Parts: sequence; structure tokens; C-alpha cells
Amino acid sequence: MIFVITEHRDNKLKSITSEALVFAQRVGQDFGQPVTAVVLGANVSGLADELKTKKIDRVIVAEHPDLAEYSPDRYVEALKTILGNEKPFLVIVGHTTQGMDFAPRLSVSLRRPLIAGCVEYEKQGDRLILTRQVFNAKMNMKTGVRGESPYFATASPGAFQADELQSGGNAEIVSVAVQFSGPVRRKLVERVEAPRGMVDLSAAPIIVAGGRGLKEKDNFKIVFELAEALGASVGASRPVVDSEWLPREYQVGSSGQTVSPKLYFAVGISGAIQHLVGMQTSRCIVAINKDVEAPIFKVAHYGIVDDLFKVVPALTKIFKDLKVS
Ligand SMILES: Cc1cc2nc3c(=O)[nH]c(=O)nc-3n(C[C@H](O)[C@H](O)[C@H](O)COP(=O)(O)OP(=O)(O)OC[C@H]3O[C@@H](n4cnc5c(N)ncnc54)[C@H](O)[C@@H]3O)c2cc1C
Repeated sequence: MIFVITEHRDNKLKSITSEALVFAQRVGQDFGQPVTAVVLGANVSGLADELKTKKIDRVIVAEHPDLAEYSPDRYVEALKTILGNEKPFLVIVGHTTQGMDFAPRLSVSLRRPLIAGCVEYEKQGDRLILTRQVFNAKMNMKTGVRGESPYFATASPGAFQADELQSGGNAEIVSVAVQFSGPVRRKLVERVEAPRGMVDLSAAPIIVAGGRGLKEKDNFKIVFELAEALGASVGASRPVVDSEWLPREYQVGSSGQTVSPKLYFAVGISGAIQHLVGMQTSRCIVAINKDVEAPIFKVAHYGIVDDLFKVVPALTKIFKDLKVS
């Protein structure tokens, strides 16, 4: 059995859940193992109904008022009960702030291995080998799990494509009663949402990101104009943020957000490794840079070697004209 611990907010499944389910569906097919999605929350029957239509075998729902908001203590307690009854082979969690908050606690409390930030896997005989990236994604490390299952794996955002999730299922929904006796050592006090529209880059299908090549803050308006013409979000490299042209939430890279949109424009960004690790899994990368040797071209699917101050306004005009016609 393969379990996916779903992630949701405001009664909507987060895209990492679809990515984790893709991971599970693939491992499930290769190892001949059924897939179960687990939903923890309060009043989450709508999410279970949505998951039921995916090509999986079962949805386990545990509802409790204490699960209305995410709590690491409550998640670990609830999941220990559920997994204890089931003995799965693999448990997949999103490699997100939430997932990396509770998954290590859970695996340690069950004394089972956790492989964090998985980007791929392979089957060697009966053995599951999980791949994760190390040294700022410069190297892949393959880890063979052994000992008694369950094995825990967190799925790196963007490594598995959400749109490959297979639907057409009619999974059984099973409700599980959970009770809590342990202490809650951490409570959610307040949730501060990022300003709307621009900065939840992790879910943006198109991103236009600008770098130091824009030279000064005011010039960034051509990036916003291109983004608007495309219906895209705006991102930035770190020097842009360090120079206070844009707030920290816009930063893409190892010390910023990890993104994996369908289309990523890198405008005047050299492609330092710390930037690449945050965007290189994007489906299509278009780089605009006047330096043909810029490392960004190594990951770009399309490259435009020219002055961005010529290219970006020209692209904006093309996309605006396309919209009008
Ligand atoms: C611990 C650590 C963490 C880091 N984290 C991050 C991170 O999260 N995100 C991140 O982005 N960086 C990060 N960095 C910084 C990273 O190493 C690079 O310095 C940074 O990504 C470079 O940003 P850039 O590409 O915008 O600027 P530059 O490297 O200066 O590149 C500017 C590019 O613009 C091009 N250009 C200039 N003028 C034009 C023009 N007129 N037309 C077209 N092209 C032009 C140039 O050819 C050049 O390639 C980190 C560094 C460290 C040490």
C-alpha cells in the first residue's frame, strides 16, 4: 500500500497533493501496490469526494475539530493511529513547509526511514530506490530503503507533474475515528496571507522573472508589463530583492521560492546555481540575456540573445496584440 498524506487549505487541495499522487500512482503501478489518499481535517468530505475521482483505490478521511487547522502534534497522533492499523509500504508527503514539519516527527516516532525531497525513484528488483538532489541540486543521490516498512518520502515540489494525475477512478471512502490525548505544543495564532495576485509563485502557471540585468528598479516595469500581457506572475533573482527593488516574497531560488510553472521567462538573469535550483523544473524556460555564455541558457528551452530592453517590450506588444485579435 502506498499512502499519500494530502495537503489542503480553505477546503481546496494544494497542487503538491496532485504531484504526490502522481508519484504514488507511478510507484503503485511499478510495485503493484494500491494507492490510498489520507485527508485530515474538519468538514473535509468535499475533498474526499474530489479525491475519489482520481485513479486511486481508497480515500481515508479522519475528521476532528482539532484537525480544523494544521497542527504537527495532532497530525502525528492521527497518522500514527491510521498507519498503525494499515502497515503501508510507502508514505508520501509533500516537501512543503507543512510536510517537512510533521513528516520527520512521524517517521522518527515510528522509527522508520524518511527520504526527503525526492525527485524520482526507480525499481531495482523488489527494491525501491529514491532519488533526491543534494549540494544545491548539483548532484543526485540515490537511496535504497531497507528494513521494515513503512518508508517515508517527501515529494519535491515540481518534480512530479500535477497534470499527469490519472483520473477516472471511483475510490472507496473510509472514515476513521481519531482521538487525541497528547499535548498540543504549538498552536496556530494567525495566518498572514501574502498580498494577493503576485507572490504565491508556487502555484503560478506562468512567471516572468527579472534579474540584475534590468539595472534599476524603475526598469522593472517592463517585466510587469510583459507579465500582465501574459496573465503571469512576477518573480525575481536575489540581487533584485537585496537591492530592494521588490520584496523578498518575489525571490526565486535556493533562499527564495521553488517554482515549477508551465512557462518561466528569465529576463536579465545569469542563471547562478542558487537561482536555477528554484526554477529548473519549469516545463518551458525562455531566457533573455545579451550574454550568449550565460549559464541560464544551459537550462533554457528557448533562448533570445539580445538586449532585454529591446526584446521585452517587443514581446509585450506581440502578446497584447494576440489578445486583442
Ligand atoms: C547562500 C546564497 C543563496 C542565494 N540564493 C539565491 C536565490 O534564492 N535566488 C537567486 O536568484 N540568487 C541567489 N543567490 C545569488 C546568486 O548566487 C546570484 O548572485 C544571483 O542569482 C544573480 O542574480 P542575477 O542573475 O539577477 O544577476 P547577475 O548574475 O548579475 O546577472 C545579470 C544578467 O543580466 C544580463 N544582462 C545585463 N544587461 C542585459 C541587457 N541589457 N539585456 C539582456 N541581458 C542583460 C547579464 O548578461 C547577466 O547574465 C544566492 C547566493 C548565495 C551565496
